[in-house]
Amino acid sequence: MFDDVPGQEKVKEMFARALREGALSHAYLLSGPEGLAKTAFARELAVALVSACGGCGICPECERARRGIHPDLHVVEREGDLIRVEQVEPVIADLSLKPFAAGRRVWVIPEVEYLHPAAANKLLKSIEEPPVYVIFLLVTDRLERVLPTVVSRCQLVEFRSLSDAQVAAYLRESHGLDGIEAEALARLSTGSVERAARLAGDARGADRRAEYLRHAARAPGLSRVASEGDPPAAFIGVLERQVQETVTRVQADLDKQLAMLAQQFQDKRDLKWQQDRASARAKREEARLRRIAAQDAVDLLAAWVRDLWVVACGASDVLWNCDHADELAGAAVATPEYYARLMGVVARTRKDLYLNVDQKLALQALFARFEEVAESA
Ligand SMILES: [Zn+2]
Repeated sequence: MFDDVPGQEKVKEMFARALREGALSHAYLLSGPEGLAKTAFARELAVALVSACGGCGICPECERARRGIHPDLHVVEREGDLIRVEQVEPVIADLSLKPFAAGRRVWVIPEVEYLHPAAANKLLKSIEEPPVYVIFLLVTDRLERVLPTVVSRCQLVEFRSLSDAQVAAYLRESHGLDGIEAEALARLSTGSVERAARLAGDARGADRRAEYLRHAARAPGLSRVASEGDPPAAFIGVLERQVQETVTRVQADLDKQLAMLAQQFQDKRDLKWQQDRASARAKREEARLRRIAAQDAVDLLAAWVRDLWVVACGASDVLWNCDHADELAGAAVATPEYYARLMGVVARTRKDLYLNVDQKLALQALFARFEEVAESA
């Protein structure tokens, strides 16, 4: 259990003890900086809580719980800007149903800071005094935005940022990376194990970073010499291929899930309702992964420009892309002020991407602004 959640030993110990002693609270609020796999942790914990096996991770019941089709495990995800009253009402109506398997029913609510105040009001009493078999696992990256009335009714569980050394150790152990590459990716992910796992992740992760950096290094404004071809288009092309792979994977997962549901539900109306939900969830997941892929691409570009700036400042010992030190040293020929201006351009684009603007247009605009800065320098 929790293999995908590195670090957080204190949190793991606390829950292991509570499970052993049967001394679980009825509501937990998992809080801490983004990228620490808190939601993954909540989901794994929920699987352990509702499965008769206690969360072996390999039996059919665990598999069902992980796929989101266990009758005692529910995840209430934001659909749009907020978690709405209509999403919370079924939870409350459902609370009195007795558990099917392990004697517990669990609700996981990620991004609980997006809970609409009216929805929160409806939930409060349930969170405070749920039936004995019910457990709420709420998750947030932004504790200061969660309604105080919600916070005060939960046991707070704090996730702590990991050091570069901890992230590097995780990349070596879980992803088989060696020395300098693990070190570089750890620095690039600035404490976010989710980002580190994406960068290392699939076998394509490392190749993709190399591809991005190759095109970034040749982009107008970043390269000393006029480049052949169209590096910005090539950079955007890497992202588009990655997004295409993501879409294919999400679709394949959905197909598998629809088939499983077809076996599980005989009643046509039930089946349709379940399948519509699964399709909507897949759509949201696809949008989320698209946004993350674009943000990761821009972050790699930002880290490259930041490192050019670092070299220009004469501080090469704090490079993030420490596995590309020679190349960076050769490329950083402009002043620190020049690279600082480019960093400002990248920061603005990152903000745009957070607001869900068209990713391709945002990146094209970014490279065009690089050129403008270069021409005015
Ligand atoms: Zn199991």
